[in-house]
Amino acid sequence: MQHLATEVKGQCPECKVRLIRAESHYCDCPSCQQRFIEQRCCPHCQKMVDCIKGCGAVNYLCRQHGLISKHNIEYHYLKAD
Ligand SMILES: [Zn+2]
Ligand SMILES: [Zn+2]
Repeated sequence: MQHLATEVKGQCPECKVRLIRAESHYCDCPSCQQRFIEQRCCPHCQKMVDCIKGCGAVNYLCRQHGLISKHNIEYHYLKAD
């Protein structure tokens, strides 16, 4: 099984601490124990992008702006209840 990047870019909007990856699209805050859904969004239009997995590389596709490098992706975190 291939390991995807486990590093989480974002931080808890309330505690300002780095989130910890729980499952593929879920992150936990080690401080308040809140679970967040990780959304990957286009830096141009803020809409969610589609994930495209190639050989060893992950790219993202915005329906309006085409391919977006993972380095330019914006991460949004929503509370999961
Ligand atoms: Zn927190
Ligand atoms: Zn876009």
